[in-house]
Amino acid sequence: MPSTGLDPHRIRQDFPIFQNNKNLIYLDSTATSQKPVQVIEAVAEFYRKMNANVHRGVYEISVEATEAYENARKKVAEFIGARSSREIVFVRNTTEALNLAAYSLGLHRVKPGGKIVLTMMEHHSNIVPWQLIAKINRLKTEYIPFDDQGYLDLSDADKKLKDADIFSFTHASNVLGTINDAKMLCRMAHEHGALAIVDAAQSVPHMPVNVQEMGCDLLAFSGHKMLGPTGIGVLYGRRELLEEMEPFQGGGEMIKEVHLDHSLWNDVPWKFEAGTPNIAGAVGLGAAIDYLRGIGMENVREHEHRLTAKALEILSEIRHAKIYGPENPLHRCGLVSFNLADIHPHDLATYLDKHGICVRAGHHCAMPIHTHLGISATTRASFYIYNTEEELEVFRDALLQALKTFRIQ
Ligand code: PLP
Repeated sequence: MPSTGLDPHRIRQDFPIFQNNKNLIYLDSTATSQKPVQVIEAVAEFYRKMNANVHRGVYEISVEATEAYENARKKVAEFIGARSSREIVFVRNTTEALNLAAYSLGLHRVKPGGKIVLTMMEHHSNIVPWQLIAKINRLKTEYIPFDDQGYLDLSDADKKLKDADIFSFTHASNVLGTINDAKMLCRMAHEHGALAIVDAAQSVPHMPVNVQEMGCDLLAFSGHKMLGPTGIGVLYGRRELLEEMEPFQGGGEMIKEVHLDHSLWNDVPWKFEAGTPNIAGAVGLGAAIDYLRGIGMENVREHEHRLTAKALEILSEIRHAKIYGPENPLHRCGLVSFNLADIHPHDLATYLDKHGICVRAGHHCAMPIHTHLGISATTRASFYIYNTEEELEVFRDALLQALKTFRIQ
């Protein structure tokens, strides 16, 4: 494979965690990414130089803080191809974005008895909020299954989507790695008169995403999975839809007027941002976006594709390794979930930790996927811009040693 425009060895120098832990092999970026010094410094600079609340003060540092916060919103809008920064709502994370969507739409827009369609490859954050609202508003939920290869089985999707109000699905699965054709799925939703909501937690950090090209109505992602701080995430919403939606939480910031018997909401996106927001987090996310744009999202994708292809090759050559999800690395995001013989994933992850390798073990907040696969847990290795092919070789050697240690013939 030709080399890409991304040099992970150079990139690693920007990440203090690797300077402070020389032998750390971090293969868990699907859970959360590491942070470059540029992001850490942007957050620290904010607190050092302009810490104040936003949208309220008339004094200089408050104006600066507001500018920094709103500037981060513009960066997010440009990064995902939104028409304007008014389409970007800051939230805590993907989970909160999806709860906002479920609450606002599922309670106030969808009529009792309405239908929500999800897939069987969703993270819990795109299942449980809908279940909570379905219980209150007596909504039906339907699930589109996935096949043995880890692809969505759309054979009876038209039937499931008939009379649906909402189709909410993941762009990329955090267990199977499958990248779904989000544009086609959004089109399907719209053909059936449903709104299309996309969980982009595993796509926006790793590949070019353009919300206008995709045609989604809402899209959710987390800053901490894309080099940004924890506690800051994004709900993108088509402006007209956001205007129509009822707020999620009430309090300061989200109102224009408050009277004793009623209130008037602020304009979008502030209507959805009750209380003091995570200002420093937004600034840090802006710095993370600058960093990713400096590398180029095509390069990020290409690098992860290369690592994923290598990881799949390594695992397919190891006896007793069972890989889940599509065989073709082009159809996968940068992660591989697997099992090694009958070694419990927690035991394997603990063993790999002794070799300085961080992987995830368990159900990865996607129990229905594991149930569908007939297993209770997997081990997951995931990759980002700072991972190298050399690390994967250490990973392979550690897996081979694990087979010996656990006396697997
Ligand atoms: N959706 C997917 C596909 C994820 O992988 C994750 C986290 O791993 C989430 C949603 C939830 O993200 P967060 O915990 O940042 O809200």
